[in-house]
Amino acid sequence: MPGLTRVRSRAVPVRVRAVELFRIRLRLTTPFRTARSLTTHKDALLVRVVTDDAEGWGEVGAETSPTYAPDTLDSARLVLRDELVPRLFAGAGFDDVRGHHPARAALHGAILDARLRAQGTSLASHLGSTRTHVDAGVAIGRHDDVEALVAAAVEHVALGYRSLKLKIARGHDVASVAAVRAGVGDDVTLQADANGSYTLADAEHLAALDGLGVVCLEQPLAPDGLLDHARLAARLRTPIGLDETITSTGVVRDAIELGACAVVSIKTGLLGGIDEAVRAHDVCANAGIAARAGGMLETGVGRAALVALASLPGFTVTGDLSASNRYFDHDITEPFELEHGCLAVPTGPGLGVTPLPEALARCTIAHERLY
Ligand code: MG
Repeated sequence: MPGLTRVRSRAVPVRVRAVELFRIRLRLTTPFRTARSLTTHKDALLVRVVTDDAEGWGEVGAETSPTYAPDTLDSARLVLRDELVPRLFAGAGFDDVRGHHPARAALHGAILDARLRAQGTSLASHLGSTRTHVDAGVAIGRHDDVEALVAAAVEHVALGYRSLKLKIARGHDVASVAAVRAGVGDDVTLQADANGSYTLADAEHLAALDGLGVVCLEQPLAPDGLLDHARLAARLRTPIGLDETITSTGVVRDAIELGACAVVSIKTGLLGGIDEAVRAHDVCANAGIAARAGGMLETGVGRAALVALASLPGFTVTGDLSASNRYFDHDITEPFELEHGCLAVPTGPGLGVTPLPEALARCTIAHERLY
């Protein structure tokens, strides 16, 4: 029996006929190091759904190891195969499943994509987008050598990026950021992302970032440390951002109420779907708290959804919105390209991009048809 689900209460029912998973692997142009991981290849899990009227694509916002977030590509695959897709085909929907946000977000996104393609509506206009372009930003991984880090920063500015996010960790923080600031000048926006690698005992040390014009110190402390982030925020002038912590709209409300952050990084995968991401955006906008669109080194499928989300008006701090060639020599969709420091928001139906069959075939390391 084909599944029946309502993507939104006002949405036309979408009859899902088939669901497939593609595990793909793309080589990164340069290895990417954070406080907690080193990535040389990008593995991704894509969900393809086929409805009566269209196909739709979603990308699982997770990694191969549970070092950034608890979910992995493999755990997402099992939950899709054994829980979410069977529930969908039983006509039950999957909103009652707790956790497993990246898997839910990818399936939900694929169904929404199919519905919007059938309607001829772009994701951005469906979300209420207000922009045709979004400011591009680039995350620069940790370098052991400060000169190499500064060279990478200068290189990206020369390419047209006006906003850089530096991955920091103990021993690679204040001096590194200061060197980059000196290298790129005051007109370039700098953010720093610690991926939860400090404790409150580092507050005095982190306060040395205050004079460097960093617009967001992202996730300095552990993801579950909401109160500690509030205590840290009281001791720093640098705005604190939360990323790994932001797993629900409820957490966003709590963080704002506690004064734990001035910037909220919104990731559809961590939040469990684009609808929840939009709700989180709205909570931030209503509270006057800046949002930024957070990325996961997405392929073109996830990047299209991210750029559409980032075109909402509350995203006032530049997000992880890089051109495709920042990561991949060959993406699986038409690439996103830098245009005067910006990326164009896709205008085609649904995501506005589709995996190119040859590219998909070249990158696929496992394929399974679930229904
Ligand atoms: Mg982050």
